[in-house]
Amino acid sequence: MAVQHEYSFFDAVQESFDKAAKFTSWDPGILEQIKQCNSVYRMHFPVKIGDKIEVIKAYRVQHSHHKTPCKGGIRFSTAVNLDEVMALAALMTYKCAIVNVPFGGAKGGISIDPKKYTPFELEKITRRYTSELIKKNFIGPGTDVPAPDYGTGEREMAWILDTYISMRPGEVDALGCVTGKPVTQGGVRGRKEATGLGVFYGIREVCKMPDVMERLGLTVGVKEKRVVVQGLGNVGYHAAKFFREGGAKVIAIAEFEGAIMNLNGLNEEEVFQHRKKTGSILDFPGATNLPVSGEALELECDILIPAALENVINGENAPRVKAKIIGEAANGPLTPEADEEFVKRGILVVPDMYLNAGGVTVSYFEWLKNLSHVRYGRLEKRFTENLNTEILQQIEELTGKRVNETQRQFIMHGPDEVDLVYSGLEETMITATREIMDLWKNNPAIPDMRTAAYVVAINKVGVAYAELGIFP
Ligand code: GLU
Repeated sequence: MAVQHEYSFFDAVQESFDKAAKFTSWDPGILEQIKQCNSVYRMHFPVKIGDKIEVIKAYRVQHSHHKTPCKGGIRFSTAVNLDEVMALAALMTYKCAIVNVPFGGAKGGISIDPKKYTPFELEKITRRYTSELIKKNFIGPGTDVPAPDYGTGEREMAWILDTYISMRPGEVDALGCVTGKPVTQGGVRGRKEATGLGVFYGIREVCKMPDVMERLGLTVGVKEKRVVVQGLGNVGYHAAKFFREGGAKVIAIAEFEGAIMNLNGLNEEEVFQHRKKTGSILDFPGATNLPVSGEALELECDILIPAALENVINGENAPRVKAKIIGEAANGPLTPEADEEFVKRGILVVPDMYLNAGGVTVSYFEWLKNLSHVRYGRLEKRFTENLNTEILQQIEELTGKRVNETQRQFIMHGPDEVDLVYSGLEETMITATREIMDLWKNNPAIPDMRTAAYVVAINKVGVAYAELGIFP
């Protein structure tokens, strides 16, 4: 899973933007304003690690303020650099626009290898980073709301929240300063699996489209589709889980150390436990080892899900990719050269900035929960259950028939928080998929789904700028 950085990731995003901008009619000034990163904050701060002082390099980029707060994850990785953070911040703007999440895009990163630090040291680094953001007003429920990304999770978000609250005592909406928190610290149920679940909902919707499936030579539906997942982190793990539960076969999983394959299907939880125990996914019982991780990307399959880092499919390996659908669960896993290759070969690339929007969509639900200070379902659950019970009783009395116990439980059930979150996410992903596909169908000159998604995003951000009256 080597990360190639031979060209600028931000340039690649700009290139895709320009390609799509041709299919819009916005004033060049508006287009230029949409494209640029509004605010860039690069910082260095010292942290005492053992008996040495380490100078840590970190970033927060706010790409767009057309809607506030700004929103986007924070990644911990040695590959973090300004170019990457700018590109990812821009993708966040477009992503939020496509799924109608009313935020501007942002991204943050700390250039460290989290595996080299103890939890105590990571906490020190995270808290110091948060106080740097607070000092410059780069964090807050109404200004900029970070979230997990590559190398971070609930634990880091809890540290960020605690640092924020201690420096802003009494701020009533402080819980909304960061999302992806543990449920006990103001998080929302369903956030952890949201990106993987969104990937599944998006691909499932594409697979329901008979004309698209016919073009790809595939049957309608995800059932029995052969899926390859690259990366068994939070996103890859959950994407694999939901595809398996949806009736697809996850025939290969790839990680740093190599890949494993089983044409009868792999169970991601068993693979995860095996890796935890042995330190590697290789030698998983019943599976074949592929010692070079990248080989998994080139396997014969229906759906390929790159769910790790950017630029893993590029001009070099794209000609060997045999998948019919590529679902970009990671941010920027394909280079523009790979995109061109797949357009030529009629392979459908379902683009990152909409397909992996499940995370930010549920972050939005979490933020709303924090601002409303009430758990989803708290007010209506019991009411709905009582109402459903009454309706069912009336129907049974009138018809003289009784439903079975399973049906009874299902009908009477009032929504829990997780039910509402899943349903909101499902609705969001289905609507976004249809909107992009419809625009693409109505504009046959648009070469690929990524360009169609950009057009949708540019139009939405363009409207916001135009309505703000910035460009009279
Ligand atoms: N890091 C995730 C992403 O790239 C989630 C961002 C968020 O929830 O704000 O979409």
